[in-house]
Amino acid sequence: MEVWIAEWSDSDNCVDIVVFGSEHDALSKSVKDIKQIIAGWTPGDDENKDLCAQVINDFARQGFLDQVITYWNDYQGDEEYYQYCHVYSRPVLGDISASKVSVSTYQTEISGATCRKCNATNEYAYADQPDGTFVCYSCKAFGG
Ligand SMILES: [Zn+2]
Repeated sequence: MEVWIAEWSDSDNCVDIVVFGSEHDALSKSVKDIKQIIAGWTPGDDENKDLCAQVINDFARQGFLDQVITYWNDYQGDEEYYQYCHVYSRPVLGDISASKVSVSTYQTEISGATCRKCNATNEYAYADQPDGTFVCYSCKAFGG
């Protein structure tokens, strides 16, 4: 059998990997992440961003998830700060069904984390990403 990996890597050499039991789940999560980044853009700020957002939302609406990711990566080639997204499969040993794949979420043992949306530091929060970040309560509550 195989598992599906959704991998993000950016120009700061940060890599984030999440494992899924199916290609559709990995693609869906990646497209959701892409749409979330786009939702943070200000319309009218940048012609290229506006076009990118329009094409990606069209693809997503039609269910062309892999095309969303291909287009997104093409667009990243023009950006100074880039974030590439890749979805691919990896074989795993053992004869287990895909529905039994468990996904482990990263969590530090040490408290103290910075919100990756608003940069607020919380000394009692635990990072859910290896770069020491989390999403704070108010960013989660207000569409984060
Ligand atoms: Zn925040």
